[in-house]
Amino acid sequence: MTGPDAATRRPGPGRAHLITGIAELVTCDGPANSTPEERLGILRDVAVVVTDGRISWLGAASDAPACDSQADLEGRCVTPGFVDSHSHLVFAGDRSAEFSARMTGVPYDGGGIGVSMAATRAASDETLRRLVAARVAEMRSQGTTTVEIKSGYGLSVLDEARSLRLAHEVTPETTFLGAHVVPPEHRGDRTAYLDLVVGEMLQACRPWARWVDVFCEPHSPYAFTAEESRRVLSAGIAAGLLPRVHGNQLGPGPGVQLAVEVGAASVDHCTYLSDADIDALAGSATVATLLPGVEFSTRSPYPDARRLLAAGVSVAIATDCNPGTCYSSSMPFMIALAVAAMRMSPAEALLAATVGGARALRRSDIGRVYVGGPADLAVLDAPNHQHLAYRAGVPLARAL
Ligand SMILES: [Zn+2]
Repeated sequence: MTGPDAATRRPGPGRAHLITGIAELVTCDGPANSTPEERLGILRDVAVVVTDGRISWLGAASDAPACDSQADLEGRCVTPGFVDSHSHLVFAGDRSAEFSARMTGVPYDGGGIGVSMAATRAASDETLRRLVAARVAEMRSQGTTTVEIKSGYGLSVLDEARSLRLAHEVTPETTFLGAHVVPPEHRGDRTAYLDLVVGEMLQACRPWARWVDVFCEPHSPYAFTAEESRRVLSAGIAAGLLPRVHGNQLGPGPGVQLAVEVGAASVDHCTYLSDADIDALAGSATVATLLPGVEFSTRSPYPDARRLLAAGVSVAIATDCNPGTCYSSSMPFMIALAVAAMRMSPAEALLAATVGGARALRRSDIGRVYVGGPADLAVLDAPNHQHLAYRAGVPLARAL
């Protein structure tokens, strides 16, 4: 994930940059199978050396080596940069009127995606590239250093491939979501659209995608059934993509079971879960990714995070930044919601926003701070990580 400040904040090749004044360094690299607070791996009064974008030294501030340049954070908290494992940043158009309508009682059924699709198809590459860059910069300015970006507002061979090509310019975590909804021109023949998705569209998108995703949601007439979703995921896997699933958002459904069945890295939303869903997740490597900004923005009931955590399920939180159900790019806001609305502890929420998101992307190199790892760091205008939820809505975090 690159941003406009990336070039200026780093010293030249081979030059060591010392960061001091860190009151609390949350490494998220504490011992596994310990309490959430221990897993935060908090170190105090430490310094960090960054060389060529990687952490080359980490230790007590009093032992810090001499470096080519230095920055004093003056008692701030540093955490791993947030890993936003679910977003839909490639879109044009404005759906604020739909949001207002929903806030006055119009229910959400997934149909508004067609509005973004029309605007996205009509936009030039240059317009879409500028919109994506602005959204990525907005994320970085709130502490996010890795973002996953899905297609899904093109819904034609050319527009899906172009969406992924543009997303791939800013992140390696790109997801083919041709099966977001059935576009209006195919509503008379769903099977023909699915044939296109698993055929020509998949082939055109494959070079720019790491992941394949599907909106498995029988409660939306525009989304996909379990059988249709299985077909999309199987085709993606056969083409070399890794599966993830939108599931159980609008009501109980087959998404979670399907995700576990195909070995998906993550099943996202998980708003309505049965006991069998929880059992399936607990016995699997599939992460439950919670997107509380969606419930906030649609006035829906929140997922039962406590039930998932009690069962030992791996939990991530992400923004789902998209024009319809949550146009927020703020991971700190999701952390605050996770704590206040989903009853997660501040430690659980921060872990879910860092190592949890990394796990949802099958990445072990990001989401934690360690020597040799990437210098993907967030700095908080606060003395400790608890302020993220404690001072909800205050812009404390930024990518370092
Ligand atoms: Zn989504």
